[in-house]
Amino acid sequence: MWDVLVVGGGPSGLSAALFLARAGLKTLVLDGGRSQVLQVSQVPNYPGLLDEPSGEELLARLKAHAERYGAEVRRGVVKGVRDLGGVFEVETEEGVVEAERLLLCTHKDPTLPSLLGLSRKGTFIDTDEGGRTSYPRVYAAGVARGKVPGHAIVSAGDGAYVAVHLISDLRGEPYKDHAK
Ligand SMILES: Cc1cc2nc3c(=O)[nH]c(=O)nc-3n(C[C@H](O)[C@H](O)[C@H](O)COP(=O)(O)OP(=O)(O)OC[C@H]3O[C@@H](n4cnc5c(N)ncnc54)[C@H](O)[C@@H]3O)c2cc1C
Repeated sequence: MWDVLVVGGGPSGLSAALFLARAGLKTLVLDGGRSQVLQVSQVPNYPGLLDEPSGEELLARLKAHAERYGAEVRRGVVKGVRDLGGVFEVETEEGVVEAERLLLCTHKDPTLPSLLGLSRKGTFIDTDEGGRTSYPRVYAAGVARGKVPGHAIVSAGDGAYVAVHLISDLRGEPYKDHAK
């Protein structure tokens, strides 16, 4: 049983996973391997990365960072979801996983928004400021929620932003991940 299943391992999903895992949440990322950033041979505008890595290398670094703090990242496409009343049963090609909360970082893929009947604005998932969708315990971040123009750093920032809201909701108080 996972506390949070992050669907989508692009910049938004992997950044969210880092924050969720550092908050002590059991976090699984399932990724279909089709991040938009994989099309980029050199990312020149990700602040701090002066070596301007390829999109593939950027994702590898984001994945390693999330894993360092305990997130698990797997390749897999989510094909189905059922709400068993407090727990989501999520179907992948490799089998079923169970999670209490979902964070959709799925770019414009319509599969999960359709299956969950999420309220949408055009191709994007409609959320409030903190990434909460119309379905309880389901959040969205990155390009998927249409609030961020399509850049890797902006999606990564939005993943962190929504993760902080999710953690705050769980704890019932504002959460800050500040190093001592
Ligand atoms: C040609 C091109 C050039 C670009 N150049 C730059 C650039 O130079 N600088 C820059 O900052 N940005 C650039 N971008 C934009 C950047 O790639 C995106 O803004 C960024 O990847 C969006 O991140 P995301 O996490 O929101 O979505 P994505 O990175 O697209 O990640 C979404 C992930 O969700 C997965 N997914 C979807 N549905 C499911 C499902 N049902 N089950 C499991 N997984 C699922 C997908 O497989 C994918 O891996 C470029 C984009 C393109 C296309």
